[in-house]
Amino acid sequence: MVANRLRRHFDADEAEIHVVDRDDRHVYQPGLLFVPFGLAHVEEIVRPRRRQLRSGIDFHENEVEEVWIERDEVLLDDRTVLPYDVLVVATGARLQPDETEGLSGPGWNERVFTFYTPESAEALRTSLERFDGGRVVVNLVDMPIKCPVAPLEFAFLADWYFRERGIRDRVELVYATPLDGAFTKPVASQRLAGLLTEKEIELVTEFNAGEVDGVGGTLTSYDGQKLDFDLLVTVPLHGGAAYVDRSPGLGDALGFVPTDKHTLQTPAKPNVFALGDATDLPTSKAGSVTHFEATVLTENVARCLAGTELDAGYDGHANCFIETGFHKALLIDFNYDTEPLPGRFPTAAGPLTLLHESRVNHLGKLMFQPVYWHALLPGREIPGLGPAMPTAGKNFALRT
Ligand SMILES: Cc1cc2nc3c(=O)[nH]c(=O)nc-3n(C[C@H](O)[C@H](O)[C@H](O)COP(=O)(O)OP(=O)(O)OC[C@H]3O[C@@H](n4cnc5c(N)ncnc54)[C@H](O)[C@@H]3O)c2cc1C
Repeated sequence: MVANRLRRHFDADEAEIHVVDRDDRHVYQPGLLFVPFGLAHVEEIVRPRRRQLRSGIDFHENEVEEVWIERDEVLLDDRTVLPYDVLVVATGARLQPDETEGLSGPGWNERVFTFYTPESAEALRTSLERFDGGRVVVNLVDMPIKCPVAPLEFAFLADWYFRERGIRDRVELVYATPLDGAFTKPVASQRLAGLLTEKEIELVTEFNAGEVDGVGGTLTSYDGQKLDFDLLVTVPLHGGAAYVDRSPGLGDALGFVPTDKHTLQTPAKPNVFALGDATDLPTSKAGSVTHFEATVLTENVARCLAGTELDAGYDGHANCFIETGFHKALLIDFNYDTEPLPGRFPTAAGPLTLLHESRVNHLGKLMFQPVYWHALLPGREIPGLGPAMPTAGKNFALRT
C-alpha cells in the first residue's frame, strides 16, 4: 500500500522504490477467520504479491537479514545490500508458539490449532468437521496480538457453527483471556461480555497461559489454574520480526519498533519510519490501522526527502468489524483518546452501527475483501474513510 502510494506520488525519475518480502504469497489475513468454518478457502484469500505492485516498483523476494541504520543499508539473505534514503519498516508481527511450553509440541495441529496461519486454519477446518461434541477452549496467550477481536469472533462463529450442525448442546465453549474482561476497553468489554453470556460461552479472565499438554488436553496458567479441552484454539504470543532483534538500535525487547505516535518516524534515525503491526504504538495491530497510518506515512516520506516538517496527523484511528454469527456483525471505531463507543458510522446518519449487531455490518465485513484488493493495496483513496477518526455518530455520553 505504501509502495503503491509512493509510486503514485513520485515520478519514475524522482524516486526508486524497492519492496522486500520473503515470499510471493500475500494473505488477506481477515479471511483466515472464516477458513475453519468452511466459509472461505485459503486459495480465495491469497494472491501473488508482485501483482499487487504498480509498475516501476522493484520487488525482491528475499528474507531481510539485518538493517544497518548507521549506514542506511539493508542486508538481504542473498548478501545483496540495498542502500536507502528512507526506510519504511513494515514487517508485521511474528507468531511465537514455541514461547509457550508444550504449545507447538505433541498435539499441535491435531488437538491444538491456531487460525492465525493458513496451514493451521485449514487443519482446524478438518478437525471441526469431525468434531462431535466436547470442550472447546479459545485462548489468547498474551497481548499484543493482531486483530485483538479475532479470537472473540472465532468463539461467536463457533457457537453459530455448532448450532447449525445441531450439536451445540454437546459442546462446551470457553473463552480464556489474560485480560480482566472480554476486551481491552471498558464499554466494548461490557457489550462483548454480554454477547458471550447470551451465546452461552464461558468467559475466563486473567488467565495467563503457561503450559499446554496437547495430548492430555490441559491448558495450565502460570498461577496453576487448569482448563481441560478436547480442542484448543490458541492465538500464540506475538513478537516483531527476528531481524529487528539483530539490527542494533531498531527494536524494543519484543522486537517491535518504537515509533512516534503521530508522525510514524522512529527514534532510531530520522529517515526510518514504521507502520502496521511492526510498531510499538498503543493502538490495535489491525489492517485498518495500517491503512490509516499509510496516508500520513506516505506524506511524511515525501516531506523527509524534501527536508520539510513532518505531518503529526495520525491519531491512533482503528476500526474493526466483529463477526457475531447468524449473518451479523458489530463495528468498533476508536483512536488513542476515544474508546469504542456506541452510535453510528461514519456519520450520525451512517448505515453502520457501532457496538450493535446488524446485518449491514456483516455485509460491510464481507465487502471489505474486494475493497482491500482493489482500493487499499493499490493505494487508492476511499471517499469518506480518511485517517482521522470521525466523531459525528458517536455517543460520547457513554464514555467511561
Ligand atoms: C486471523 C486474523 C484476522 C484479522 N482480522 C482483521 C480485521 O478484521 N480487520 C483488520 O483491520 N485487521 C485484521 N487483522 C490484522 C491485519 O491482517 C494486520 O494488522 C495487517 O495485515 C498488518 O499489516 P502489516 O503490513 O503491518 O503486516 P503483514 O500484513 O503481516 O505483513 C508483514 C510482511 O512482512 C514480511 N516479513 C516479515 N519478516 C520478514 C523478513 N525478515 N524478511 C522479509 N519479509 C519479512 C511478511 O512475509 C509479511 O508479508 C487480522 C489478522 C489475523 C491474523
